[in-house]
Amino acid sequence: MKEVVILGAGYAGLRALKELQRHRTDCHVTLIDKHDYHYEATDLHEVATGMQHRSRISYDINDVVDRERTTFVQETVDKVDCENQKVICTNGKEVTYDYLIVALGFESETFGTPGVDEYALSMTNVDDAEKIYHHICEQMQLYKQTQDEDFLKIVVCGAGFTGVELMGALVEAKPEYAKIADVNPAQIEIYCVEASTRLLPMFNEKLASYGIDHLKEWGVKLYTGMRVKEIKPNLVMYRAGDDDPMKEISARTIIWTTGVRGSKVIAASGFSEKRGRVMVKDDLSAPDHDNVYIVGDVAAVMDTSTQRPYPTTAQISLKMGHHAAKNIIRQIAGQSTEPFSFKSLGSVASIGNTHAFGLVGTTPIKGYPASFVKKAIMDKSLLETGGVKETMSKGRFDFYH
Ligand SMILES: Cc1cc2nc3c(=O)[nH]c(=O)nc-3n(C[C@H](O)[C@H](O)[C@H](O)COP(=O)(O)OP(=O)(O)OC[C@H]3O[C@@H](n4cnc5c(N)ncnc54)[C@H](O)[C@@H]3O)c2cc1C
Repeated sequence: MKEVVILGAGYAGLRALKELQRHRTDCHVTLIDKHDYHYEATDLHEVATGMQHRSRISYDINDVVDRERTTFVQETVDKVDCENQKVICTNGKEVTYDYLIVALGFESETFGTPGVDEYALSMTNVDDAEKIYHHICEQMQLYKQTQDEDFLKIVVCGAGFTGVELMGALVEAKPEYAKIADVNPAQIEIYCVEASTRLLPMFNEKLASYGIDHLKEWGVKLYTGMRVKEIKPNLVMYRAGDDDPMKEISARTIIWTTGVRGSKVIAASGFSEKRGRVMVKDDLSAPDHDNVYIVGDVAAVMDTSTQRPYPTTAQISLKMGHHAAKNIIRQIAGQSTEPFSFKSLGSVASIGNTHAFGLVGTTPIKGYPASFVKKAIMDKSLLETGGVKETMSKGRFDFYH
């Protein structure tokens, strides 16, 4: 019986698992993740702001494991040894495979900016997100004791998709924070420093402006065309160009959302990579290794229409996980693999629980209808990894406001 090992129980890994379990192929699957739960990474900003408890965006991996066909192993992966077909975990444990799916997801990208690791909060997993929420609550309590306004300031570094969704949720959570600090919500200041002047390039300018203008109307102080040069304790240092004077914002909460890279396991395993991502072959297998598939945020797949890699998203991760599993099933049956193709269904960014904007296919949507669609998208992805049970218990059904 062939041994298939899946690394990572995120969108790509669990979608692959679901397909392998559904298909009666003669194989055993070992799923490895450092956590014993799956989390919906697209909803991390909601935990970071306190809009949702972590239990609402995560579920037990064993809930989706068919124990007759799959073994779940909770371990941290250090590297893959492709020559010897084995995975090496932090505690020295080794797991051998016939086929491997690497779906280890994303990490925060600091671009080498000094002080980020030490003095800024990142939002790359549920523990991080929960830490941000507790940190904000603590700063609000400290304001009450000290009356130092820096405790009421929150700086988001980066206004990409994640930063924008985070700011929308922060605005919505202001009344809750204000209660803790015993202030008016307007006294809580949200700042954002962003290097680009053209925000959210995945949307046309009109649509991007809709979201950005809402954040500004809601009081977010957005500094675009400004590069964060360094984070110091309670201080964000930034400037427009190298010849421009350095500016600073002092704040007790600094959140880093400038971008993501693929897992460090990719480089540690010797794959040819750029920012933790491998340019995979058209069937999603790794160059030089037909039995190793690299999917989700650790993979770069070329969009032939733009000659640029597709943006890394949950949507494409789910499709890649499914496709990699299908190709392994074909290989086990002695058939040739099939090339991966992808057509984006669009994407929708939330700004708080009742506002959103984005594209469904190529059609722009905004406001309440977009918020409705966003929740339906979240439910669909939950259904694709967790099935009906998880969707019924963790899905978003608060469509009407
Ligand atoms: C706030 C936010 C909002 C987003 N919104 C959207 C959106 O609206 N739409 C969209 O399509 N995408 C969105 N994204 C992007 C999306 O979340 C990612 O593209 C997606 O999570 C990638 O899926 P994945 O399966 O590759 O990895 P992940 O979801 O990151 O899963 C990786 C898994 O690997 C495990 N793991 C990692 N390292 C190790 C290790 N060394 N050993 C063992 N296990 C390990 C982790 O525990 C995790 O379970 C958003 C991201 C964020 C942060």
